[in-house]
Amino acid sequence: MTPLITGANRGIGLRLLQDYAKAGCSPIGTTRTDDPPHIAGVRWEYLDVADPGQQRDLGRKLEGETVDLLICNAGQYLDKHETLPSGYPPAMWAEMFATNVTGVFLTIQTLLPNLERAAAPKIAIISSMMGSQERAPGGSYIYRASKAAVLNLGRNLAQDLKSAGIAVGVYHPGWVRTDMGGQHAQIGVEEAAAGLRARFDALTLETTGCFETWDGHPHPY
Ligand code: NDP
Repeated sequence: MTPLITGANRGIGLRLLQDYAKAGCSPIGTTRTDDPPHIAGVRWEYLDVADPGQQRDLGRKLEGETVDLLICNAGQYLDKHETLPSGYPPAMWAEMFATNVTGVFLTIQTLLPNLERAAAPKIAIISSMMGSQERAPGGSYIYRASKAAVLNLGRNLAQDLKSAGIAVGVYHPGWVRTDMGGQHAQIGVEEAAAGLRARFDALTLETTGCFETWDGHPHPY
């Protein structure tokens, strides 16, 4: 089984990569750093998800190879400390949407031929509870809007890719102790990754389009 995980050099993505390698899979991690951690059994590919040229290069490199599970994990949360009166500059909107939304779309578009080669292909999009429309407590407007957009993207792709046999799930990974989640977050990467892997295993064409938490609960849209 070959999972491909974007943004896998640290945080949740790194833990998923380590766990899949330990489980005897042949995971591919993508990174935009030149010196990702060495992990036995892991293959690294270079990818800034927001860069169309690098997406094309990755597509060419992986031509003819099978990807069973694409995990769109790379994400940015740059507006944590912005304030409404004078913050949230347009360049920040552009950068975060390029990674959190366009980057997910481009990665899926790039790797569709590889997914189509798999027996039971799956796409997992790591959104966030902060992408929920129903639970909208305010603040972090760019992050929330980008995670809402990628949830919408996932649910629409789920419809369009059903006939190709590709299941698409969207996930909240928990509030996780990473650079993004901070040291006071609720759970560690090991718990988040274990829960997410169970959700990816459970994803089928019957549940395609789901929005779920790492511990198996449906999340309000
Ligand atoms: P981290 O900040 O720890 O890691 C983010 C990863 O994404 C890094 O590997 C980073 O690479 C990569 N990345 C960012 N931008 C790009 C890009 N343009 N191209 C390629 N890679 C990129 O975050 P987490 O591990 O905490 O988060 C993983 C996912 O989970 C994200 O989508 C996040 O939004 C989501 N999430 C996290 C929560 C949490 O509590 N931690 C809660 C809800 C959702 P680099 O090292 O090069 O910067």
